[in-house]
Amino acid sequence: MTEQEKEELLEIIHDQIESTKVEVKELIELTKPISLDNSIGRLSRMDAINNKTINESALREKKKILQKLERAKERSKEGKLGTCLKCGEEIPFGRLKIMPYTTRCVKCANRP
Ligand SMILES: [Zn+2]
Repeated sequence: MTEQEKEELLEIIHDQIESTKVEVKELIELTKPISLDNSIGRLSRMDAINNKTINESALREKKKILQKLERAKERSKEGKLGTCLKCGEEIPFGRLKIMPYTTRCVKCANRP
């Protein structure tokens, strides 16, 4: 990875951290306890409960990604960003651009 690519990647990580934080905030808002008053009907309350479950799993997923992104930022400080944690090979820049938080090359990711 060239210095320029590294900078580009750090920018991507930064952007993704910011946008993921916004999404997490929104999802926290959406997963607040559902009020049991009668202002919403029984059916829409069931809808609300269903949506809440979906949003809760989305929230868990986003929080995980956020953690991975934060860790990627740490790794970049240690100069380890873009290196496969399993085989030590350099991870292709194209893959890192899509998943900057990935810690494995394609070969190792596909291996159990
Ligand atoms: Zn590997």
